[in-house]
Amino acid sequence: MSKGSRKKRATRPWQDATAFRDIGDLLVPSSEEDELRLDGYEVQQVSAGRTDKAYVCPECGNAIAAGESHVVVWPEGDPDLRRHWHRHCWRFEVNRSRSESEA
Ligand SMILES: [Zn+2]
Repeated sequence: MSKGSRKKRATRPWQDATAFRDIGDLLVPSSEEDELRLDGYEVQQVSAGRTDKAYVCPECGNAIAAGESHVVVWPEGDPDLRRHWHRHCWRFEVNRSRSESEA
């Protein structure tokens, strides 16, 4: 038995078709910037590895781990009110706001 005969590779969500479908919304489509935009807000994307600080997401109340990619959002002209959001949580908020303004 040679050591190299069995490749050890962690199962990643995107290697599983079902899981992929479930988390598909969280992955990064090319149109993501549009999807993250919301009238009246500035949205800054923070890439993974760019932070060494953990934040608390105002939407779900869970921590955004240090180094996790996320978005920083603040009302236009009021950067003191900036908040760090999970990308998916912000997207949820954007979709909610858009459907409210359409209603
Ligand atoms: Zn969140």
